[in-house]
Amino acid sequence: MSSSVKGMRDLLGDELRWFQRIEEAVHRVFGAHGYREIRTPILEYTEVFKRSVGDSSDIVNKEMYEFLDKGNRSVTMRPENTAGVVRAMVDHKLLVNNDPQLFYYMGPMFRYERMQAGRYRQFWQIGAESFGVASPESEAESLVMLFDFLQGLGLKSLSLSLNSVGTPESRPAFNAAFRAFFDARANHFCEDCHRRIETNPMRILDCKNPGCQAALEGHPTIVEFLDEASKAHHTRLKELLTALDIPFTENPRLVRGLDYYTRTAFEVLSSDLGAQSALLGGGRYDGLVKMLGGPDTAAFGWAIGLDRLAMVLKQLQGDAPFDPPALLIPLGEKASAEAIRLAREWWGKGLSIQLETRGCPLKKALQSANRTGVKLALILGEGELEKGTVAVKHLDTGEQEEWSLEETALNLGGKGTRS
Ligand code: AMP
Repeated sequence: MSSSVKGMRDLLGDELRWFQRIEEAVHRVFGAHGYREIRTPILEYTEVFKRSVGDSSDIVNKEMYEFLDKGNRSVTMRPENTAGVVRAMVDHKLLVNNDPQLFYYMGPMFRYERMQAGRYRQFWQIGAESFGVASPESEAESLVMLFDFLQGLGLKSLSLSLNSVGTPESRPAFNAAFRAFFDARANHFCEDCHRRIETNPMRILDCKNPGCQAALEGHPTIVEFLDEASKAHHTRLKELLTALDIPFTENPRLVRGLDYYTRTAFEVLSSDLGAQSALLGGGRYDGLVKMLGGPDTAAFGWAIGLDRLAMVLKQLQGDAPFDPPALLIPLGEKASAEAIRLAREWWGKGLSIQLETRGCPLKKALQSANRTGVKLALILGEGELEKGTVAVKHLDTGEQEEWSLEETALNLGGKGTRS
């Protein structure tokens, strides 16, 4: 017996139905905002991730599915999709005129992660990226889309955790103040933080180590050291969010640790599951397009884990609504031919009908129907053929009745019975 690759699973049944409901909402809601879908390849040259996600990140160092192809080129199964989308923007020269470009994506990502509950090595992300607009208004628009999407799915207790990480120009002032703070209590910080103070001091703020979090009490915040333009940007975004009823709290320890992040950084938390937990994160990344060889372009985006979102929705709402197709069971050769013709007519009207084509006895057909979750069996025997009716069996109650063909089409119509 073989099994699926560790950390990778098949999607089917109720979990897949949740995925499909979410995906349908993505197309509808994001499409209405003028975002267009993009599908980039799963494989990219490894350079794309090394240059964007960064050589020093855990993703690049430890988690990439990276290998040499038969032409001896190093390729990687994408661990995230922002790099691929930016690479595509540059390849297709979509950013040369500085027009706003709005894109969303959905698809599988791959990270060789340590195994733990809810973390997979193939997982799915949904993301939206907007290019060419630097304004706080563009961020507010994107966040409204995100909140309307999540609330539309039924998530209620959402809040935004917000920070500004400034710009490469304003960061040295923060770094200097933070260094002085750090040096005064250096022995309370972990080894990793001692490395970070040299390479990327901001990253100390979101160190997972509880000792470091305690030692950070009273730390200088990035916001205190923002340049005037970044400060105005941050204030304006908060005003817009307040006016739009998007609840937020400022979190001075929220950082996106990579160099190309500028200004806004955020996470969305949901308390729908009790303890507040982060559903997704994002921010402004004005430096990335240039880093990947494109023109200097403002950019803002975020990514949600679809696996996690589906799990939250299932915990909140139970099984995804599912209306299985009715099963049409013909009895005998004549009925079998007529059943295909009839089903075709009904399919043409948009009804969902599954056809029993085994030519088996009714009892066997009904046993299979019961096991596979069919609710309604339409039986077409010699007698029904002559009368132009079907015998209808409700499998959950055992109740039986007879419908004319017109009645059947009418009763099954408009039920949205597609799974
Ligand atoms: P990141 O790209 O690391 O900022 O992750 C964004 C979102 O993707 C997270 O909030 C998770 O919901 C989801 N995610 C990241 N890694 C995994 C994984 N290994 N398995 C499942 N979901 C993941």
